[in-house]
This record gives sequence, C-alpha cells and structure tokens, in this order.
Amino acid sequence: MFVSLLLPLIGFFVYAARYCYDFFPFLFCALLASLSYLVGCHFRLIRRHAESDLEIQDCLEKTNLLEDEFLKEQQAVSSLHRKIVNYSQLKGLTEKLCKSLTSVETSRVLSVEAGKLFGDKETMIILYLFHPKTGVLGIASSQKGQAHVNLKDKEGDWFDRWVVKTLKPLWVEDTKSDFRFDADKISTEESRKVRSLMSVPLMTGNKMIGILRVDSPRENYFVAEDIRLLATIADLGALAIENAQLYEKIEDLAIRDSLTGLYLRRHFLGRMPQEMSRCLRRKKELSFVLVDLDEFKRYNDKFGHTAGDIVLRTIGMILADEFDAPGDLVCRYGGEEFAVLLPDCSKEEAFERAEVLRKKVEAQTIILRREKTRITISVGVAAFPRDVQIKEDLIQKADMEMYRAKKQGRNRVCVTEG
Ligand code: GH3
Ligand code: MG
Ligand code: MG
Repeated sequence: MFVSLLLPLIGFFVYAARYCYDFFPFLFCALLASLSYLVGCHFRLIRRHAESDLEIQDCLEKTNLLEDEFLKEQQAVSSLHRKIVNYSQLKGLTEKLCKSLTSVETSRVLSVEAGKLFGDKETMIILYLFHPKTGVLGIASSQKGQAHVNLKDKEGDWFDRWVVKTLKPLWVEDTKSDFRFDADKISTEESRKVRSLMSVPLMTGNKMIGILRVDSPRENYFVAEDIRLLATIADLGALAIENAQLYEKIEDLAIRDSLTGLYLRRHFLGRMPQEMSRCLRRKKELSFVLVDLDEFKRYNDKFGHTAGDIVLRTIGMILADEFDAPGDLVCRYGGEEFAVLLPDCSKEEAFERAEVLRKKVEAQTIILRREKTRITISVGVAAFPRDVQIKEDLIQKADMEMYRAKKQGRNRVCVTEG
C-alpha cells in the first residue's frame, strides 16, 4: 500500500520540479509531511496488528482453559449422577437383603442387584459361598446380565483362588497382561472368555464366607469406582448372608432334637400329610417305620442316664446314616423311640431296609465306662395306602407291629400282613 501511494507521489514530484519550479519548495514540504504521516500510520498499523495477535492468543488460551474447566465440571456432574444412581440402588439392595431370610434368597438378591449395578448383557456375576459343613467353595448364585445362568466351573478359577489365599479384593484390567497371573495357564483352564474382572471376599469379622465376582469378556471394562462399589456390596451381602445362615440355623435348631440332631416329632408329624398326599398323587407307596430300643431302662439303670444318652446318640447316627436317601425323614419320636418316613418305598423294601438297620445296631459295640456293650432294636413297619388310609392309623399299625416284635422276643422287624 505504502509503495502504491509513494509511486504516484514521486511521479507528481518529478513533474512539479520540472514544470512548476516556484511552487516546488512548498510541494516538497507537503510531500515530506505526507510521507512522515504515512510512515507513522504504517508503524501504528503494525503495532495494532501485533497487539491484536496477542489478544487473539490470549482469547484462545482463555477458551482452552474454559473448555478444560467445562470438561472437568461435566465429569464431576456425571460422576455425581452415577453416585446418586449407585446410592439409590444400594439403598434398594439393602432393603431387599433385609427382607430375605434364607441364604438361597439372599444369594439370589445379591447377584441380581449386582447385575443391575454392573451389568450389561455380557457381564457375569458369580457369588461363591463356602459350604457351612464341608468348607468347600461352591457357586451359590450366578447371573449373566439380567438372566440366571448355570456355570460349569463350580469351584472357582485362578482368580478366585487368589482372593481366597490373600483375602484381598482383586481387580484385573486385562487377564492377558496381568503380571500376577500366568496367561497361558489361565487360557487352558478357561471354560469361557474372561478379559477383565473384579473379585472381592465376603468377610464377616475375620472369617471369609465367600466371594463376589464380576467379570467381562471385554478388557479394561471396569474402573476404580466399580471395585469400591463392589466392595461395599460385598460388605452388605456378607452381613445379610451371615444373618440368613444364623436364622436358618435357629430355625433348624427349633425343629431338631438337641441330643440326636434328628427331627422332632412335631416337625415330623407336620410333614407326614404332605408326603402322604404326594405319594397318592404319584401313585406310590409310603412306608412308616417305628424303632424302639430293647430293654433300654435296664441299660440306663446299669450304666446311668448319661451313658444312656450316648447310646441314644449312637443309634440316632446309625439311623441318619442308613436312611439318608432323598425324601427319607428320620425323627426322634420320643424317649427311646425313633420313627422313619420313607416316601416312594414299598412295604417290602422298607422291611429290607429295616432289617439292614437292625443288623447294624446289633453289630455296633458301644463302649461305656471302658466296657463293651451292645443294644438291639425292635421295629414295626406299616405302609400307606396299602394298609391304612389315614395318618393316625398308619402310626398305630406300625406301633402294633413294633409291639408284636417285642412280644416275639425283641431284636426283630415285624411288618403288617397283606
Ligand atoms: P422295651 O424293650 O420293652 O422297650 O423296654 P424298655 O426298657 O426300653 O422300655 P421302657 O419304656 O420301660 O423304658 C424306656 C426308658 O427309656 C425309660 C427312660 O429312662 C429311658 N429314656 C427315655 N428318654 C431318655 C433319654 O432321653 N435319655 C436316657 N438316658 N434315657 C431315656
Ligand atoms: Mg419305648
Ligand atoms: Mg424300649
């Protein structure tokens, strides 16, 4: 621009110097003034330009900062939103856990609710519990997404064993690259694809009662927030399962005899009508076996009441051992009498099984006060609906058969005729 202004001026200046000589000094001064004004304008323009550049850069920096802040705010809002959702689901979980009284129901609630919190349709939730009696770790409940599934691997894998060993929560972002585990060994043992997982122990005090595990076929699926949430769920779940197990224990104690551990007569008689109608529906026979210890009073008198209790406990164990098929129901009927209900069992089969029992009892030596002793039993057998039509008659018939066995010299099994 500067040059395009300057050229016509120089042209004009040459023309004036040649043809208007008197006027030239004025013209020269005017030209110098114009030139200095133009140069001043030019430098001012350059300075303004540089200032604008700085301002633009400043604005860009501010925009970047604002964008960063906005992103952080957005993350904070979404994390807060997630927390609110999680807390409300935790509240729901706690309410549902409080309502479940059996360990089966508690386990189901725990895995279903964990499924809702972490689930997409590929996420697997597995709740392992140690068996209260055998101590073996087994699956109590398993859930894929929102559906219940049955898994082949019932006792847990490498990762679960790690949790059992260390009693610590485990978070694996990628099973193929975690330094703690041998990826080759894991892939040969694997029955389904697992790329990331979280597994936390269920602790009640210092005791581990199980494991809650969540896994996914996708790597890096879980974040730190997830493992914290799972640990909270595991704490709530452990408490609920312990309560349910205690409740079940108390319920079981209420229907069991404290000396022999067998069912009490009240519970046994309560179960009889259901079993009888089930057998009627299935057109099967049900047998009732009544067992009475022979001359137990003499035994008691000779060795004392405490020794008599040991005998009752021993006979109770033999009975529970002998009649442990699914459906068999054994009870301490009263004093030194025991009763057994055998659904889907004919009178003939019941007689055979009672004979086996009688021989076992007869062969059993019981050491009392360093003396080897033996005891025998008399047994009566009756069957429904072959012999009788109602519960009371069934008991009475078996009782009559038991007394027949006593009359015939004891240590025998008598069964109704026909
Ligand atoms: P029988 O062969 O005719 O059945 O003779 P028995 O002596 O077994 O029969 P009886 O009914 O006269 O005696 C039963 C005894 O069982 C009486 C009682 O002292 C004893 N008894 C009942 N309940 C218990 C118990 O819980 N512990 C002990 N130690 N003895 C018991
Ligand atoms: Mg008796
Ligand atoms: Mg007796």
